[in-house]
Amino acid sequence: MKYRIRDEVKRLGKYVAGKPIDEVKREFGIDKVVKLASNENPLGTSNKVKRLMAELVNEMNMYPDSSSYDFKQTLSRKLGISKDMIFCGAGSDSLINVICEVFLDKDDESIMAEITFPRYESNTILMGAKPIKVPLKNNGLDLEAMIDAITDKTKLLWLCNPNNPTGGIFTKEDLDKVLCKIPEDVIIIMDEAYSEYVDSEDYPNSLELLKSYPNMILLRTLSKAYGLASLRFGYGIANEEIVDYINRVINAFDVNLFAQKAAVVAIEDEEFINTVKIFNKEQRSYLTKKFNEMGLEYIESQANFIMVNVNGDDRPIHEYLLRHGYIIRPGYLLDMPEWIRVSIGTKEQNVEFCELLYNAIKERDKE
Ligand SMILES: *Cc1c(COP(=O)(O)O)cnc(C)c1O
Repeated sequence: MKYRIRDEVKRLGKYVAGKPIDEVKREFGIDKVVKLASNENPLGTSNKVKRLMAELVNEMNMYPDSSSYDFKQTLSRKLGISKDMIFCGAGSDSLINVICEVFLDKDDESIMAEITFPRYESNTILMGAKPIKVPLKNNGLDLEAMIDAITDKTKLLWLCNPNNPTGGIFTKEDLDKVLCKIPEDVIIIMDEAYSEYVDSEDYPNSLELLKSYPNMILLRTLSKAYGLASLRFGYGIANEEIVDYINRVINAFDVNLFAQKAAVVAIEDEEFINTVKIFNKEQRSYLTKKFNEMGLEYIESQANFIMVNVNGDDRPIHEYLLRHGYIIRPGYLLDMPEWIRVSIGTKEQNVEFCELLYNAIKERDKE
């Protein structure tokens, strides 16, 4: 059979996701498996959200509200912005796809860092447009070089901050230097999936910038710090005109009932998110202290994961950790060989991970 698959689809690489826990259990015949590969929240989810989910089982037969009205109402009040500046989707993954559908024609260009969240590239390719990948500088986004890459064909500029998988941020000052050089008709997407974890005072206030730059779109998600990865809820904030077009394209019922109801309660539960922030910061310092003790280089992180250099081939380290029940993201899958990305886990998991990492390197390096 000769299927007439679009060339753009044939050109897409296969996404290799972190191995699921059950698969590792089966493959290595072990009972206890910890996943520190996808930046999920080790503290789980707000109890308020959990209680609410149980109450909703009797509403599953109904379609959800296609406008996510309650969420938009709640967030607009919280941030002091118009409801019409907010759009929602099944995770920011879905929103990245929709943004590409709204803006990218064949042969348009979309600029991103060479090592960043992979969905900007795949969705660009899917539209027949061209991803322009700009190398990192000092393991972070090279904003100057990204701006220099803008041409008449550039429609989208993807700025992931903190950048996944490297974890660091670009500062307000870095951004201010380049913003005035970006043409008005180039859309700047600020993907802030990890913004809740940032404690640096130099982090740009993108909501404030939005007032001066109507060509900016912010993306946030409830998958990471809010601990709702499985429910699929992401949102964006942008100029009302952009939001209007996005809403024409996105699936009418992209966001399910559970996700919508959970999102409203989640963003109001300040106590949970504060606990998460404090815990993450404390454990981030624990891990970097350990890496220092082991003499391992790491990239300064403002997120809930850290890139650490394993001083040699990362594959045997990945294998060793898997065999011992720890799933991490190996650098060879991220175009950063000799590094691994580890999500911050519970206290016990972080302690055990460090011990295993130490032993893994020792085993790899013994003659
Ligand atoms: C995890 C992640 C997303 C996608 O999250 P969703 O679960 O689809 O909301 C988007 N951007 C970055 C940088 C991420 O790391």
